Amino acid sequence: PANENIQVYIDGRLLPRSEARVSVFDSSVQGGDAVWEGLRVYDGRVFSLDAHLDRLFDSAHALWFQNVPSRETVVDAIRQTLEANNMHNDVHIRLTLTRGEKITSGMDPRLNQRGCTLIVLAEHKPPVYPASITLSTSSVRRNSAMSIDSKVHHNNLINNILAKIEANHAGADAGLMLDKDGFVAEANGVNVFLIRRGKVRTPWADYCLPGITRATVLQLCHDHGIPCEEARLSTTEFYVADEVFTTGTMGELTRVSAIDGREIVNKHGESVLERIQSLFRKLTATGGTRLV
Ligand code: PMP
Repeated sequence: PANENIQVYIDGRLLPRSEARVSVFDSSVQGGDAVWEGLRVYDGRVFSLDAHLDRLFDSAHALWFQNVPSRETVVDAIRQTLEANNMHNDVHIRLTLTRGEKITSGMDPRLNQRGCTLIVLAEHKPPVYPASITLSTSSVRRNSAMSIDSKVHHNNLINNILAKIEANHAGADAGLMLDKDGFVAEANGVNVFLIRRGKVRTPWADYCLPGITRATVLQLCHDHGIPCEEARLSTTEFYVADEVFTTGTMGELTRVSAIDGREIVNKHGESVLERIQSLFRKLTATGGTRLV
């Protein structure tokens, strides 16, 4: 397979996949204590690099990570990894920053005295663009700001994994996660939008990750005069929408054909989603930062 012989960047070293390991004392092993970003490379250009780095550093700051590598170091790590693997197109980068190796096991962040661990994993992943996907509502609620704020892009993914397990058993492609009051937050790994009578709406970022693709779609709508707003939205509003779609770095904008068995039917003819998808494709065809 394409990714069998990849080189993985860990703290300044490029190691073959079989040797790419972190310490058992690392905060990620000890407590899932890490932040991450998933980036995508189009024809040698890293899409929305600055937005991803901003979110990474904001998350690390919010979690009180110390001795965080500089922006230059992280960008250089991405460059080295792409170069070492000679990867240019259809690349998915998993960037992980952990609180680092502890001097002994335990929860106290003061035990992390060796600085953060930076991991850059670049894999060749040709995009899969399904015509549409289905969602099923999960019984697992998305975190609220009362516990881990959804604005921190952390590695505590177990709620999202549980939602995906439920979706698997329901025969759906992804789990739709609600907030504590039963309103829609996001799917287990992507943000969600609906379109009704020409108006685009997405849940407030109170309970969802403020996705970079989500922000890009809101900006595109704004720039092209497509009515759009953030709102508090119930599952019913999604069931009766004309179009529903998900957004995320890897899947881009993906149509949702059904939620909990309710088919999403466009009662107003023309597809606003297709218009936004083509605007998005124009951005990815030219935008991004060339590092190699
Ligand atoms: N929600 C969750 C929970 C995610 O993990 C992700 C992707 N990491 C997204 C949404 C999509 O965010 P982005 O558009 O920045 O890829």
